[in-house]
Amino acid sequence: MTDLSLLSETRWLNFIDGATVAGEGAAQPIINPATGAVILALNEAGEEQVIGAVNAAHRAFAHWSATTPAFRAGILLEIAAVIDRHAGLLSGLEALNCGKPLHQARQDDIAAAADVFRFFAGAVRCQQGQLGGEYIAGHTSMLRRDPLGVVASIAPWNYPLMMAAWKIAPALAAGNTLVFKPSEHTPLSILALMSRLDGLLPPGVVNVISGRGETTGAALVNHPLVRMISVTGDTVTGQKILQAAVGGIKRTHLELGGNAPVIVCDDADLQAVVEGIRRYGYYNAGQDCTAACRIYAQAGIYSRLVDALGEAVAGLRYARPIDADNELGPLISSRQRDRVASFIERALEQPHISLVTGGQAHAGPGFYYPPTLLAGCLQHDEVIKKEVFGPVVSVTRFEDIAQALAWANDSEYGLASSVWTRDVDLAFFLASKLQYGCTWINTHFTLVSEMPHGGLKGSGYGKDLSGEALQEYSVVRHIMAKFDTRFPTRPPTPRQETGNE
Ligand code: NAD
Repeated sequence: MTDLSLLSETRWLNFIDGATVAGEGAAQPIINPATGAVILALNEAGEEQVIGAVNAAHRAFAHWSATTPAFRAGILLEIAAVIDRHAGLLSGLEALNCGKPLHQARQDDIAAAADVFRFFAGAVRCQQGQLGGEYIAGHTSMLRRDPLGVVASIAPWNYPLMMAAWKIAPALAAGNTLVFKPSEHTPLSILALMSRLDGLLPPGVVNVISGRGETTGAALVNHPLVRMISVTGDTVTGQKILQAAVGGIKRTHLELGGNAPVIVCDDADLQAVVEGIRRYGYYNAGQDCTAACRIYAQAGIYSRLVDALGEAVAGLRYARPIDADNELGPLISSRQRDRVASFIERALEQPHISLVTGGQAHAGPGFYYPPTLLAGCLQHDEVIKKEVFGPVVSVTRFEDIAQALAWANDSEYGLASSVWTRDVDLAFFLASKLQYGCTWINTHFTLVSEMPHGGLKGSGYGKDLSGEALQEYSVVRHIMAKFDTRFPTRPPTPRQETGNE
């Protein structure tokens, strides 16, 4: 159900203080990247509306922050149920707005979004921390975790509803209120979900405003009542957010780009590597910050890997009329497609790089780019150093493990990595040395709600998912009570003989 009839089921409006309101800012076209056609035009939230949304969230905080974890968990579980109930609509909108295969949107994005709400509903009720006690005589210490206030949450376009869930669920569970801004490219699924919550959330607790980063987003992050800014996006965007946070000393949660190294050792299971990279290098057309895009293959497996992977990647299916046939969709915009194409053009000017498959413009409508494999890449090449964020994988040959490790860590990013080997010692050695937020062994890509996701270095430091996210969206506080130690203490009363025992 990716047809336009889905659009008539929702009024495409912002959510501010419990009410649906049309944006007062400039009209923005929302485009279907599979065809290039305009789906609809949406007016972005104007500056006054952004201020209204933050003020509403600020007012709602007094009540929402005083609710119990059990109460908030109940609401999160109901949101998960609404997502399940409307999975057809939401996956259809995701497919329409991102061009991604409908079956993937349903099985992966929508199911994951519901799971994230369920996870945080449970996690907020069983948080753990240091024991209370007397760390100085006569003084009892205890820790609390309290919410921060209004969180400005800003999401990218690659997994619109799932990113919304990653941002909204932990912040709400922890007792904060939010103003959420989806990507200007992909606002449809979260707006549709909000319109189906039917008063589940008190007014102002979650506000959703659509619009561009430089207009709506900038007004939001600069509002003085915003206490925390949570952004998933490009590294340059993260830098702008940091600047906006300076004045108000706002807490920031940055989940930025990635450029994942994949170390393939001579003894790796070749078939498993090929299947893994075919899937996780190109999933979502490579528009994934953890995509398995930078392969370092040891000399003994290099040629066999390039040949087998080239054949496997050439068989990836896209832009087919039957949804179930497709394994990947288009890029999000013509700009993004052209950016990817320009990376390939510059790469192919290098005599040492060879094009194994892909690399030509897609003939037909939509912003597709063919799955592309480059071989013979060297560490200083642009495709190795920069995040392409498209269906492009590079292969670089290495001789010894120390070299592969040094090259893998030679990156401004630090989000995700993987190691492929049958040698358990080597796998754990490499996992201990890779400077990435996640290292997979003999797999790549899979995330679970129970484990943190986030990076280091230029990939930012925000941790999504898991109990770590609850900590990000709360502040730890120390409460200390002094008590009088002069109360007399007596030895226990001896048990009296009763004759009944
Ligand atoms: P982007 O940085 O262009 O936009 C992200 C969001 O930030 C959008 O909602 C945008 O409107 C907003 N924004 C941009 N400038 C802003 C400003 N000055 N003030 C406030 N908001 C602003 O990123 P994108 O193109 O939507 O997404 C792709 C990027 O996101 C890639 O670099 C990718 O690696 C990264 N990403 C990272 C993760 C992760 O978990 N680390 C996940 C998904 C995507």
